[in-house]
Amino acid sequence: MIAWESMDAGTKSAVGQLLRQHPDYERWQARAHGGDPELTAFLEASTWPDDIRKDRRFYTTGREEPTATLPGFPDMERRLHWHYVDRPVNPGAGTGPAAGVIDRQLAVLARIVGDRQATMAERAYALPWLIHLVGDAHQPLHAASRYGPDGQSDNGGNLVSIVNPFAARYTSMSLHRYWDDLPGPPWLRDGRLASAARSLAALHRPPTSPGTPEQWLDESWRLARERVYPPGDDAVPTISATFHEDALAIAGRRVAEAGYRLADLLQRLLHSGPRREDRNDR
Ligand SMILES: [Zn+2]
Repeated sequence: MIAWESMDAGTKSAVGQLLRQHPDYERWQARAHGGDPELTAFLEASTWPDDIRKDRRFYTTGREEPTATLPGFPDMERRLHWHYVDRPVNPGAGTGPAAGVIDRQLAVLARIVGDRQATMAERAYALPWLIHLVGDAHQPLHAASRYGPDGQSDNGGNLVSIVNPFAARYTSMSLHRYWDDLPGPPWLRDGRLASAARSLAALHRPPTSPGTPEQWLDESWRLARERVYPPGDDAVPTISATFHEDALAIAGRRVAEAGYRLADLLQRLLHSGPRREDRNDR
């Protein structure tokens, strides 16, 4: 939502045109309660790579047999390894190449989305992934893991249990989920989403430099190393009020930065060609 509010009209319209070619465009619209269909498509596209985790049309390599490829999709793989890169926060840990390819995919997807020689179907498939992964790259635990003495990764905090006394309902959760949910629940929509986005944007002005995906991931990794794991040696740490306040501020700032940078990236990829009025190729 922050990205959408920051984009110029030409970029919004180019984004809208691409997303209309996405095979799940009608599903996105069916879920909306009225409002601007281009904004609806943009918001639904941003969570689409997570939504397909529970969608039975898709499959996970190594766990399931491939499902039939439906029209408009290159295949139905969920691509779970695209969401993160597992860089160790503790020195000397994690031998061998890091698991996860978000670093490489950010570059590949940006190239496809901006490539006028690629087919509309290819660009439409790449765009929701690009929107989503710019967000993921700003969540510290999508760029880092802590490794145990046995050399095992904690999978970006997914294997770390915490108690969060500030949670509305269930206080037991993984550290990864805690950080994912800090900026707000993924099902926020409509007026409540708009007002949450407005207060974050008011609190955090656009970053001075848009930076590169490698810099965004490096910022995330540094945060993970210094401020994301609760202090102490408890096997299941309880989040303190001080830690929680700090975490909320970090997560809010990261989401705002992701929004501004996504807008900037899409403007550069989609609105740098000839002026729209000079084009009659579609
Ligand atoms: Zn993700």
